[in-house]
Amino acid sequence: MKKILVTGGAGFIGSHLCRRLVNDGYEVICLDNFFTGSKRNIQDLIEKPNFDVIRQDVTQPVKFNVDEIYNLACPASPVHYQYDPIATMKTSVLGAINMLELAQDNGAKILQASTSEVYGDPLVHPQLETYWGNVNPIGIRSCYDEGKRAAETLFFDYHRKCAIPIKIIRIFNTYGTAMHPNDGRVVSNFIVQALSGQDLTIYGDGQQTRSFCYVDDLVAGMILMMNSDPDFIGPVNLGNPGEFTMLELAEMVKAMTQSRSSIIFKPLPADDPKQRKPDITLAQQKLGWIPRISLKEGLTKTIQYFSNLEGL
Ligand code: NAD
Ligand code: UDP
Repeated sequence: MKKILVTGGAGFIGSHLCRRLVNDGYEVICLDNFFTGSKRNIQDLIEKPNFDVIRQDVTQPVKFNVDEIYNLACPASPVHYQYDPIATMKTSVLGAINMLELAQDNGAKILQASTSEVYGDPLVHPQLETYWGNVNPIGIRSCYDEGKRAAETLFFDYHRKCAIPIKIIRIFNTYGTAMHPNDGRVVSNFIVQALSGQDLTIYGDGQQTRSFCYVDDLVAGMILMMNSDPDFIGPVNLGNPGEFTMLELAEMVKAMTQSRSSIIFKPLPADDPKQRKPDITLAQQKLGWIPRISLKEGLTKTIQYFSNLEGL
């Protein structure tokens, strides 16, 4: 049975991925330093005989036997990745090196969870994989954006120099159950605010756009990519091309939760991308993947999840 390492496996996306791989019968090792992840996310997996957890930082080298590695370890919410920007950069860069070395030691295949942030504040719309992006190298988002770009570079250089089998996915805004209530990203913020009667906080005028993918769709795409033709290494966009303004999202969440909260406007953080929407033609052609869950359907599941969360 394949032994699969998931770094960042106790986080939002990582915990969904671990659950899917455990249920598919693989031997799964979750490596996490629990910075933004939590035991609650993987509580149901801990008892399973084919699931193990290692509390460790990806910036430290590791040695054990694995067949496949999904490298997700990295805080993803601007609030959390900006909390200690130097640690964020180290996580992306040293984490990539350590996991690529581990892949080399084992002859393992390795998938990198990259991001739409490599396109920065994009001047090309929708974003295609061939676009090199518009990234500020010295701003408050740079620790994340440039860290992820450097990780992609490392993946390609290890592939070219050491023939390591790599896969790179660029994930666009993903949401769903298991997001932390204090995660800070827009979907969880709006839902938590609407359910607890607080004002929904729109940053800027709310006309900036994002495209939201439900986590189950994303996980299906990640696994298809890992198991795709060895010649197809990416990078490939994974996201839902439906595009919404933040004002539309706030109004949708408010209506769906029947909340009496007000919508208020706060200053827009520096370098906040104005628009974002994936072109997913490549994923469709190479993986036969398209997202199936609409924003309305995904929000319904996510609102249900947060409604049942204790202490909200
Ligand atoms: P998350 O913050 O919920 O999960 C990240 C996980 O990595 C957490 O469990 C955290 O504790 C762990 N981690 C952080 N630094 C670590 C370190 N140094 N060593 C070991 N573990 C560490 O975020 P997420 O949304 O689940 O994102 C997972 C991955 O997907 C990240 O790499 C992120 O950049 C990427 N991604 C996510 C999105 C999204 O919309 N959710 C979009 C683009 C890319
Ligand atoms: N945003 C917002 N209110 C919030 C949190 C975020 O209006 O409470 C905005 C944010 O400024 C950005 C968009 O929503 O324009 C998406 O933010 P998020 O942090 O979820 O992801 P990212 O900016 O990394 O795409």
